[in-house]
Amino acid sequence: MKYFILFGPPGAGKGTQATGISERYNVKHISTGDLLRSEIAAGTELGLQAKNLISAGSLVPDEVVEGMIESKFDTVRDTEGFLLDGFPRTLAQAEALDAMLAKRGEEVTAVISLMISDEVIKARIAHRAAIEGRADDAREETINNRIRTYHNQTEPLIEYYKKAGKYHEIDGYGGEGPEGIEVVRSRVFSGMDKI
Ligand code: AMP
Repeated sequence: MKYFILFGPPGAGKGTQATGISERYNVKHISTGDLLRSEIAAGTELGLQAKNLISAGSLVPDEVVEGMIESKFDTVRDTEGFLLDGFPRTLAQAEALDAMLAKRGEEVTAVISLMISDEVIKARIAHRAAIEGRADDAREETINNRIRTYHNQTEPLIEYYKKAGKYHEIDGYGGEGPEGIEVVRSRVFSGMDKI
């Protein structure tokens, strides 16, 4: 099985690129953000717990997302692997993922990192707020907290995966609009074809 991690700051285009990647490499796309938003929409206990943290731009507890990922590994069949989008986001999650995979005799295949500047992050999120209506995209304070959270808690994973020899960085800015998305898609495919 292949276990790809789609890494990058909020607004890097992970969700946008995920569909093409999952079709081309026949891997199942799992977004912890999407899973959490479905829990909120369904009004579950977990959703209620996650809601305030997400609207503040903070992370939900590691155990919550780790449980979601493991239950997908246990239940999803008919796939050549997984594309993890938005997970792991802390060193503890990365270590938990390594342990989960080791238990299965597997390991992370590669980390595909879409890199953009803080200025592009802000512009992308403002644009997405108008289209998708996500509550955590609308408030400036929340966006700034998500960027801070990314730099403080998630960025250290770059070193972690570089040391493991699994880190592949791709310039996530290809210009604005649909052409920009296509430019990045080609960069991602040509990088991943070599893995
Ligand atoms: P995303 O859609 O990936 O931007 O995630 C939206 C929000 O869900 C994040 O700002 C976090 O509050 C929460 N979230 C998503 N994935 C994780 C994760 N791996 N660990 C902790 N919180 C997460």
